[in-house]
Amino acid sequence: MHHPHVACDPHGHWRWTCQCGAGGHGQTSHRDWHWALVAALVHTAAMPGE
Ligand SMILES: [Zn+2]
Repeated sequence: MHHPHVACDPHGHWRWTCQCGAGGHGQTSHRDWHWALVAALVHTAAMPGE
């Protein structure tokens, strides 16, 4: 299963990572927090049941 999560790194950049190795990172704004959250959800939806 994919269990991505969104976290903020020590530099204040929002990123999402998944235990399968996928992930991405944005910048520091609230908008990027939202982007990371959506990207993580899309990743889960795109790869069901793995
Ligand atoms: Zn994954």
